[in-house]
Amino acid sequence: MDRRLFLTTLASGILVAGAAAVAANELGKAGLSPFSVLSDGRIGSGSPNIPSPRPTPTSSITNETVFSRFAVPRLNRIPVPGGTISSLPGNEGLLALTVDDGASAETVKGYCDFVERTGFRMTFFVTSTYGAWDANKDQLRKLIESGHVQMANHTSTHKALTKVSDGEVVDELTGCESYLRNTFGVSGHPYFRPPFGYIDDRVANIAAGLGYSTPVLWYGTFGDAGRCTPEQIQAMADQWLLPEHIVIGHANFPPVLDCLNYIEAILHQRKLQPITLDDLYVRNA
Ligand SMILES: [Zn+2]
Repeated sequence: MDRRLFLTTLASGILVAGAAAVAANELGKAGLSPFSVLSDGRIGSGSPNIPSPRPTPTSSITNETVFSRFAVPRLNRIPVPGGTISSLPGNEGLLALTVDDGASAETVKGYCDFVERTGFRMTFFVTSTYGAWDANKDQLRKLIESGHVQMANHTSTHKALTKVSDGEVVDELTGCESYLRNTFGVSGHPYFRPPFGYIDDRVANIAAGLGYSTPVLWYGTFGDAGRCTPEQIQAMADQWLLPEHIVIGHANFPPVLDCLNYIEAILHQRKLQPITLDDLYVRNA
C-alpha cells in the first residue's frame, strides 16, 4: 500500500479509537468504570494497528521476575508531523507511554524510580500548578538530562480549552511553558495535550501560534484519571500496550505503582520498545 495512503487509513482508524478513549476517560471522571466502557468500545476490526491474535497474558510473570534494562532506542528520527497525533508510524514495536496531570507526588516519584530501575522511557504531560512536579524536580531533572523522561504541556490549571476564551487558552499554554522552562530548563514545544482530549480548530490554531503545533491524543488508556484498582489498570495495560500505540496514564493516584512490574513484563514479553516522543521525532527548529 502506498505509504501516504496507509498513514491516512491508519489515522482514520486512530481517530475512532482516540474518541473511544476520550469518552471512556470522561466516563471514568463521572464515576463510571472506564474498564467496562472500553471493553465494549474496542477498536473495530478495520484498524491495521491491532495484531491478531492478541498477545498472551503475562500471568506467569511474578514480581520477582528480573528483566534486562530497556534499551536506548537507535531510531531514524523523523520530523514531527503537523496536526494531531494519536499513534506512532512504522512497525518497529515502539510504545510511547504518556502520563498526565500530577495530582500525586508519590505517583510521579514512583514513575521516576521505575525509570531509574528499568531504563524505561516516557513523556510526562505536565499540569503545571499541580504539586507533584515541584515535589520531584531534582529527580526529574536528572531523568530529563539523561533523555529517559520528556516533559510536555498539559496546561497550567487543566481547563477544558474548548470552553474558555482565547485569552484563557493562551494563559493555560504559556503558563505551563513558562513553568517547564523555569523549573526544568526545557520547552514543551510542539507537544501539548488538551485536557480531557477536548480540542477544536480554534484551540488548535491558538496553540499553533504559540509553538504548540502538535496536539497529542492517544490510542489506548490505563483508565486511571480517577481512582481505580490495580487490577483494573492491569487489564487496561494488557489491552492497550501494543505496537505503535501512544498510551495515556495519569499521575493522580498511587495504585498504578502496583502495576509497574506488570507493565514492564508486558513490554518485554511483547518486545515493545518504550520511547519518548523525542526518541522518534525531531522537533521543529
Ligand atoms: Zn489531564
